[in-house]
Amino acid sequence: MQYDNNNVFAKILRGEIPCKKVYEDNHVLSFYDVNPQKKIHVLVIPKGKYINLDDFNENASDEEIVALSKAISHIAKKLSISIKNGEGYRALANIGVNAGQEVPHLHFHLFGGEKIGKMVE
Ligand code: AMP
Repeated sequence: MQYDNNNVFAKILRGEIPCKKVYEDNHVLSFYDVNPQKKIHVLVIPKGKYINLDDFNENASDEEIVALSKAISHIAKKLSISIKNGEGYRALANIGVNAGQEVPHLHFHLFGGEKIGKMVE
């Protein structure tokens, strides 16, 4: 499967579509989900062109992988949903058709600010 340069997150990364930014560094962008499923619902994406977590782990540099992983904890703290300064949160990545992945650019959902509920509906 080839990376689709016209997916919505690629457009956000190119600045063609606005987003409500939460965090940005050299390798990572985070912004609020446009259709929040919980009180706090943000997305964390790599800036590189990776379709899903498997593609990312196979093809991204160690630097990119560390940056994304660390950014998740940093953002959770920034939003006061971490264990350290909140009540915890859920980080979730849908990978492929069976998981219902809609946007073919790797993204982690961070849900928090309230009890998140059952892991799988
Ligand atoms: P997934 O089903 O895991 O691929 O999730 C895709 C997510 O992207 C959904 O939660 C959408 O609400 C979200 N989404 C789609 N378009 C945008 C956008 N322009 N800005 C922010 N979030 C978006």
